[in-house]
Amino acid sequence: MRRLESGSRLVVASHNEGKIREINDLLRPCGVVAVSAGELGLPEPDETGQTFAENASLKARAAAKASGLTALSDDSGLAVAALDGEPGIRSARWAGPDRDFALAMRNVEEKLQAAGATSPATRSAQFVCALCMAWPDGETRVFEGRVDGMLVWPPRGHKGFGYDPMFLPDGYDVTFGEMDPDVKHGISHRAVAFRRLMAAMFDNGKKG
Ligand code: IMP
Repeated sequence: MRRLESGSRLVVASHNEGKIREINDLLRPCGVVAVSAGELGLPEPDETGQTFAENASLKARAAAKASGLTALSDDSGLAVAALDGEPGIRSARWAGPDRDFALAMRNVEEKLQAAGATSPATRSAQFVCALCMAWPDGETRVFEGRVDGMLVWPPRGHKGFGYDPMFLPDGYDVTFGEMDPDVKHGISHRAVAFRRLMAAMFDNGKKG
């Protein structure tokens, strides 16, 4: 199976600054040098897949092909049980062209209210993350992670990004928006997917 060497160069196939920051934080201990698709001027492919894994693969394949480097992509989002899994793969789109997540969170809350989901038990949600590693020759591998929680209103905290301020992970009394980033990096959907990737790419997660 293919592995990553410490010191190897990797392109992070994302234009989302919050995600790039988190991925860099997670990659740093592995000695991998990450550059972003934005820094390399790579175009953003249309996310035409029907699942997180399909969209992650589309993005990583495109970046690996265009850059000639190993690429890592992240497709992720918030799946709300009472909304049949929405916004799901459309999580970024719910924030509109201005990527306004105050608007996106309000939209989620309005739909929850309309569905009568007012008690904590009816407001469960999951963050889902699919990470895809792609090589310039077209090979890909996908790793998934999830974290369960419930949605609060009003949103709380400014430390994260996206829907973080309304997501209260199970077992905690602070939202991802209030949580120290180091704690989020230990338990998030992205962290779970990353641990799976590390185990496969770096000899059981140890530095390669
Ligand atoms: P995409 O994967 O680029 O299509 O965008 C996924 C969207 O899901 C992001 O723009 C965020 O709004 C949301 N999202 C994904 N991961 C997180 C997270 O860790 N915290 C908050 N929002 C997230």
